[in-house]
Amino acid sequence: MRPLIASIRLEHFRHNYELARRQHGGRALAVVKANAYGHGAVRCAQAVADIADGYAVACLEEALQLREAGLTLPILLLEGVFEPAELAEVERHGLWLVVQSQQQLDMLLASQPAKPYRVWLKMDSGMHRAGFFPQDYAAAYQRLAESGKVDGIVKMTHFARADEPALSATAQQMETFDAACAGLPGEISVANSAAIMVHERTRRDWGRPGIMLYGATPLPAGYEQGAALKPVMRLTSRVFGVRELAAGEPVGYGATFVTERPTRVGLIACGYADGYPRLASTGSPVAIDGVRSRIIGRVSMDMITVDLTDLPAAGIGSEVELWGDSVHVNEVAAQAGTIAYELLCNVKRAHFVYC
Ligand SMILES: *Cc1c(COP(=O)(O)O)cnc(C)c1O
Repeated sequence: MRPLIASIRLEHFRHNYELARRQHGGRALAVVKANAYGHGAVRCAQAVADIADGYAVACLEEALQLREAGLTLPILLLEGVFEPAELAEVERHGLWLVVQSQQQLDMLLASQPAKPYRVWLKMDSGMHRAGFFPQDYAAAYQRLAESGKVDGIVKMTHFARADEPALSATAQQMETFDAACAGLPGEISVANSAAIMVHERTRRDWGRPGIMLYGATPLPAGYEQGAALKPVMRLTSRVFGVRELAAGEPVGYGATFVTERPTRVGLIACGYADGYPRLASTGSPVAIDGVRSRIIGRVSMDMITVDLTDLPAAGIGSEVELWGDSVHVNEVAAQAGTIAYELLCNVKRAHFVYC
């Protein structure tokens, strides 16, 4: 068996969910879209089925996967529906849906549900990606409320820059939202992970934590708020080749790294086809039998080369942590010029082990 393993610590997922909900106050939907950010949606959802207030996924397909696994908690479709036929499934499975555009509103109003929908009506309070403009929001709300087709409207919005704590952008979006919602009854949901962690005024009725449930932080390096989170995924592999090179020898594709001294090079079974970012090359951290070292040379499709020179005890069979506890996924993401979300979502071909 190729020794690349994604160990998913479901106890950590539970811990992080409880922490997120406690920080937010009120209730929290566990965001398990995109296969639970690459961790396995059904397993993660099952792990909090007895404590969570509900789940959020991107789309109907993801919700059906959870229902087919026997999960009965509320599930919110964050993108809503894409075509009218999906509304029958929404009704059949008791799903909650975001309505974020005039087309979605029209689809809903044209349908004939036997029992009313639970709608989360989204406002574009400044992100300019989805949702009704503030000046159109109350009218959309009224049309829904008067249609007889909904039995509750949660007012929601999403933040563009909650992960930049020093900025006023989130407070501005919050003000815009509150002003445009004034007088409209119902619960409110605005906070993603970053908002839960650093923007206290965004903590309303329903939190929507995602990345923090997986133990990664959306905040820039230096913010300690992520410290209590426990990394859920540990991506490990093993050394399966070792070679000694003299100083001045190139390593890997493109010879982008040339040994500066006599170097012991370890070969690791993991590459960009497994989701390890190719842009994280020479210098990216790894932990070998718990001791930090670094990648040398380019990440290739199936293999990575690491520096074992200062780790004389390491050799064939040594465990290499690509990310997890000794190497935080946020560090690797920073090396690759991306975010932890993308790395976690991209893991594939690894053997997933749940513990
Ligand atoms: C993905 C998503 C979230 C979760 O965001 P995180 O940054 O992962 O906490 C919350 N709300 C909406 C609308 C989303 O699409």
